[in-house]
Amino acid sequence: MESSVQSDLQAADTPYRSPNMQSADRLSALKQEMEYLNRIGKQFVAAFDRFQVHRALLAALQDLYSFSACCILLTGDPIDLFIIPCYPLNGSFLEAMIQRIASAANALNFPAITPEQLARSAYFDAPDELAQRRKQGEISSTTIGSGLNIPLTVENRIIGMLSLFDEKPGTFDADLLQLTTMIADYAAVALDNVRLRERENALWREAELERMRLELIIGSMAEGLLITDAKGAITSLNTSAEQLLAQAQTEFTPGVPLRQLAETSSVPWLPRLADIIHQALSGHTVKNQELVAGQEDDRVPLTLNISAAPLHDASEFATRPVGVVAVVNDVTSSKQVEKLKDDFVSVVSHELRTPLTAIKGYTQHLVRRVERRLRKLRSSTEGAVIDSPESQDLRSLSIIQSQTEHLERLVNDLLDLSQVQWGQIHLHYETFDLPAVLGELVRSVQASAEQHSLILETTDREASVVADRARIEQVIGNILDNAVKYSPHGGQVIVRLYKQPSQYHISIKDQGIGVNPEHFEHIFERFYRIHNTSSQHYAGIGLGLYVAKAIIDRHGGQIWLENNQGTGSTFHVTLPMVPPSDEQSEAAPTGNTTL
Ligand code: ADP
Repeated sequence: MESSVQSDLQAADTPYRSPNMQSADRLSALKQEMEYLNRIGKQFVAAFDRFQVHRALLAALQDLYSFSACCILLTGDPIDLFIIPCYPLNGSFLEAMIQRIASAANALNFPAITPEQLARSAYFDAPDELAQRRKQGEISSTTIGSGLNIPLTVENRIIGMLSLFDEKPGTFDADLLQLTTMIADYAAVALDNVRLRERENALWREAELERMRLELIIGSMAEGLLITDAKGAITSLNTSAEQLLAQAQTEFTPGVPLRQLAETSSVPWLPRLADIIHQALSGHTVKNQELVAGQEDDRVPLTLNISAAPLHDASEFATRPVGVVAVVNDVTSSKQVEKLKDDFVSVVSHELRTPLTAIKGYTQHLVRRVERRLRKLRSSTEGAVIDSPESQDLRSLSIIQSQTEHLERLVNDLLDLSQVQWGQIHLHYETFDLPAVLGELVRSVQASAEQHSLILETTDREASVVADRARIEQVIGNILDNAVKYSPHGGQVIVRLYKQPSQYHISIKDQGIGVNPEHFEHIFERFYRIHNTSSQHYAGIGLGLYVAKAIIDRHGGQIWLENNQGTGSTFHVTLPMVPPSDEQSEAAPTGNTTL
């Protein structure tokens, strides 16, 4: 661009001559003036940076006058002063110029600036090719002979000041002032445009740097990141996401929505990923969804944890997301550790069961023997109660017996934990009468809960259900045990059975310590126990309700908790009269299902 301005200058017509310097008529002078302004106007328009504007300005001014230097002061923060000498200048001359510019700027109501500050913000722009050489023997002057200051304005806004200086007096002809102001106006617009362009470029560079920085961060993230468009088609993936999806043997066709891909793909987990993306597209943030992306027969298949959030554009009127950003994590190794832990717990609990069964059997045997001896003793003493060693033994043995039962329940819970965790809980369906089972459970829990009064309320004497009887007994037994355990001062435990069109609804209400609503959604998580001071006194490991929920879920029912507002809690269980169809088909081949 610089050379184009240059060549234009060299190819320029003859320099402009002031109308009063020639005797030609006014019309041809006006034509000449128009041609001149047109030519220099083009040079300003072609100028791409501020230095090309300086050159165009200098060339245009040198057509009018022969002078020593041209200076451009630009307002702003910081203020800039460009000094364009036409030939080498004396230091004192420069100093004098700066002094004059500072006082002219102050007179024009520029922000106050001292000559020293101005000197610090001064730049030399000396285009060699334009610099006139000093004539031989000519001595550079130290004083200013004449000067001219013209404000640089764009749409009535002052953006700076143009100053011209010469060593000789009377250089700046009053007749040329109007033309000089026009040139200054051209220069002002060109400089303002350059400044805008510079600002734009700086912003663009900043944005580009920020984009590159972000790209680098995303590229080096250990987490996989994928972005979709508004239709749910993947538009970009980082390296980690590419690797993860390659491990899961999946390739995505760009531009095709995941839902559409899922319909034709044989990849079993693709519909689930498409669902997660679709949920986010409908405006919901989806957190920590697990997706098993490996082969089913792998011991621990490749497992991905996915969180997805809708992407909105900056416009406040946009209601629909413009895409989705999803973070994908490989959690297979933590699943492996979990599996190892669960396997260990399962093996140990299994191994514990054999000695436990023996302890339980022999304790029972001893209890019976001691009871027999005690009976004999009582008959020989004709019913008088004596604190004999036998009765002390019996007390010790019943403690061993109840602790063994407690241990057995713990071991069973631990065994169930790994089965639930890895989806290996097997149900054995049979048809049975629900009120009868509830009645038995109520009686058996009542036997060891002297302080409590357990009541069964049901309008239906017969209510048959198809379910795994032992597992349903386990669930209701656990809720009843809890109702008694967490009601330390006794009270009523009311079990109600309601028959609904296709399911049964069982509620178990106690008058115990109750549960704060903040725990409602966690109480069915594994190992979740409420750590308030009161529950510290109750034995337990927080597995009963977790297993209970898994069992009820498998039956196609629901389990939840309701607050009794300071007077205990009520657990609710619903149980379909017949199991869901996929459960029936799964259970049928084992021969255990009685439908
Ligand atoms: P555990 O009783 O062995 O700790 P559960 O899974 O059966 O485990 O129960 C989880 C937690 O829920 C308990 O630790 C207790 O804090 C709370 N909880 C359960 N049932 C009741 C209840 N009826 N009243 C008050 N809190 C209860």
